[in-house]
Amino acid sequence: MKLVLLGAPGAGKGTQAVRIAEYLKIPHISTGDIFRKNLKEETAVGLKAKAYIDKGQLVPDEVTCEIVELRLKEADCKNGFLLDGFPRNLQQAKALDKMTSLDKVVNLDVDLKALAGRLTGRRVCDKCGESYHISTKKDEVCDKCGGKLYQRADDTLETVNSRLEVYSASTAPLIEYYKDKGILVDVDGMQSIEQVFESVKKVL
Ligand code: AMP
Repeated sequence: MKLVLLGAPGAGKGTQAVRIAEYLKIPHISTGDIFRKNLKEETAVGLKAKAYIDKGQLVPDEVTCEIVELRLKEADCKNGFLLDGFPRNLQQAKALDKMTSLDKVVNLDVDLKALAGRLTGRRVCDKCGESYHISTKKDEVCDKCGGKLYQRADDTLETVNSRLEVYSASTAPLIEYYKDKGILVDVDGMQSIEQVFESVKKVL
């Protein structure tokens, strides 16, 4: 199945994507993860992306679309994939239409007012990428793999606010875009992690 997971920053895309990809046995492709890996390894793409990521802005479409196009050509995407964090604007959605044809777009619907607190309190495992929140996680060790938890550099309040603005201006219009194509399914993202996953399974 060829899927896109749509939703605001902090809506739970990463958390659900790991579960959905495992359930459907398809690769999980997160453009944010790809950029962070490039940043860590100080590649040309990473250096180009850094200034945008630090400000909570979108990395230019040419860079992002090329990365996705190359990734979708890899052998493991033959029977499907789950895109998380791409597309993020109309130009990217149109570029994606040229690369492939999607089966479904799952939109994680959340109250935007809840997101700043979710993001600034988020801690992520440096090994497996699992997310936690400081309100429920009191130590810095991942329950799943024992990795160390860290705060993403772009989860600070200033950057979070700009990421949420970018979402409203550029990404939210994609809901209508995919609704018009008849492939959008909405899922209530304000439920617990397990409930959201159950709802996603039902609509797939
Ligand atoms: P994420 O991990 O999805 O929250 O992405 C972190 C940051 O990576 C974003 O704030 C952007 O700066 C950049 N990024 C990720 N995906 C995209 C995309 N599809 N287009 C442009 N920039 C992106």
